Amino acid sequence: MTSAANNIPNIVVVGGGAGGLELVTKLGRKLGKKGKANITLVDSTHTHIWKPLLHEVAAGTLDSHEDEIEYLAQAMCSGFRFRLGKMDGLDRTNKQISVAPTYNDNGEEIIPHRSFDYDYLVIAVGSVSHDFGIKGVTDHCLFLDTISQAETFQSQLLEAYLRAHTQDKPLDEGQLDIAIVGAGATGVELSAQLHEVSHLLTAYGLDEVQPTDVKISIIEAAERLLPGLPENLSTATEKELSKLGVEVLTNERVIEITADEIKTESGKIIPAAIKVWAAGIKAPDFLKDIDGLETNWMNQLVVKQTLQTTLDDDVYAIGDCCACKWIGQDENVPPRAQAAHQMADLVYKSLTRRMTGKDIPEYAYHDYGSLVSLGRYSTVGNMMGNLSKGSLMIEGFMARIMYLSLYKMHQVALFGLFRVGMLSLSHLFRRSVHPKIKLH
Ligand SMILES: Cc1cc2nc3c(=O)[nH]c(=O)nc-3n(C[C@H](O)[C@H](O)[C@H](O)COP(=O)(O)OP(=O)(O)OC[C@H]3O[C@@H](n4cnc5c(N)ncnc54)[C@H](O)[C@@H]3O)c2cc1C
Repeated sequence: MTSAANNIPNIVVVGGGAGGLELVTKLGRKLGKKGKANITLVDSTHTHIWKPLLHEVAAGTLDSHEDEIEYLAQAMCSGFRFRLGKMDGLDRTNKQISVAPTYNDNGEEIIPHRSFDYDYLVIAVGSVSHDFGIKGVTDHCLFLDTISQAETFQSQLLEAYLRAHTQDKPLDEGQLDIAIVGAGATGVELSAQLHEVSHLLTAYGLDEVQPTDVKISIIEAAERLLPGLPENLSTATEKELSKLGVEVLTNERVIEITADEIKTESGKIIPAAIKVWAAGIKAPDFLKDIDGLETNWMNQLVVKQTLQTTLDDDVYAIGDCCACKWIGQDENVPPRAQAAHQMADLVYKSLTRRMTGKDIPEYAYHDYGSLVSLGRYSTVGNMMGNLSKGSLMIEGFMARIMYLSLYKMHQVALFGLFRVGMLSLSHLFRRSVHPKIKLH
């Protein structure tokens, strides 16, 4: 697969997440289908799920198979090629990426090591949890970075419930306690989902366990919940969580995690059978200084406002794995789905314009606000923009509709409006016959 083969450019996008999949879909429709460029997506997994849904998969309130998108099928419909594999290196001189071999569950190699040529490369590999080198995190915590991690969480939770429901002795102290480290949107949303799940599982018949047997705690080093979001959102969220009985421990820096407890700097010890780490992110380790490109302390590729990496105009980076200045602020663009979506849009314009010799646009992040879903209990958020003249707090039904519309926008970018309408209808019908929670 080289540009020499058919004299059209090779555009390779690595990572089919919130940003990457939207980008290849648009490029495929505009250029791939018309034979104006070869568009290739490389991803280490077979399927895509919108990452903000992962806490619902972990809690079991969403069956990942319902919302997963097969890359091969999306590629066929949208005019790009999909290649399975994990990028592990870059050769900028020869304009090639290297992709590690893929093995099956028995450890047998099914796809050998491969290289792909590119004329333009877009790195969109997202982020992973950052354990900050804290002792015990990797060994004893669950993470929510991938579908398989979220599914592992869900099956461990269910196993813990089944064990507790059928054991012939009373529950041990803390046997079903869940502690979440990190009170960002992921930790907060997961805690509310888990509270809902504790009620649903009892209602579905695991009634030897009562919702009050499950204690949910969130531990946060900052002085408030949702430290990256406006203070009024933190206050509203804390009020809702306290109504649910979720314990919130702020100003508590975790220093060690063992098999059954979490230790903090102030000397607190929090017993927990299930521990989840949601306390910060970094870009994947293989990006660190990759082939001499500039990266920061979080392994993110540093990019110019054009989203081209600082040292190579043919290598772009978008989404969580890039460090891009947030114009008018003292910080970088935050790692959010809305930023990945906007960046995908900009790189699409940049590449299509470059191919016709036009000048390329620059990226300015538009913060439209943030929404935090507390499951069926509430949704809180703030809206930014000219209409709201700054930041306007929203709560309840309106906030829920806006929260749901974020995912719908992602689906529309991938499937178009009509098919998303059909999908939503079929989802509604399915919901009316399926249980509200995954029970196996
Ligand atoms: C539980 C949870 C809840 C969240 N909730 C929200 C929310 O409510 N609102 C919001 O705006 N944001 C939310 N986020 C953050 C949001 O999901 C991310 O900012 C967004 O997904 C980033 O998009 P991306 O395209 O950069 O990467 P991702 O969507 O993470 O996609 C990265 C892709 O790269 C692939 N990949 C990784 N490494 C390699 C490799 N070496 N080779 C090939 N492929 C690779 C992965 O398989 C994946 O498909 C949440 C995140 C989580 C985990």
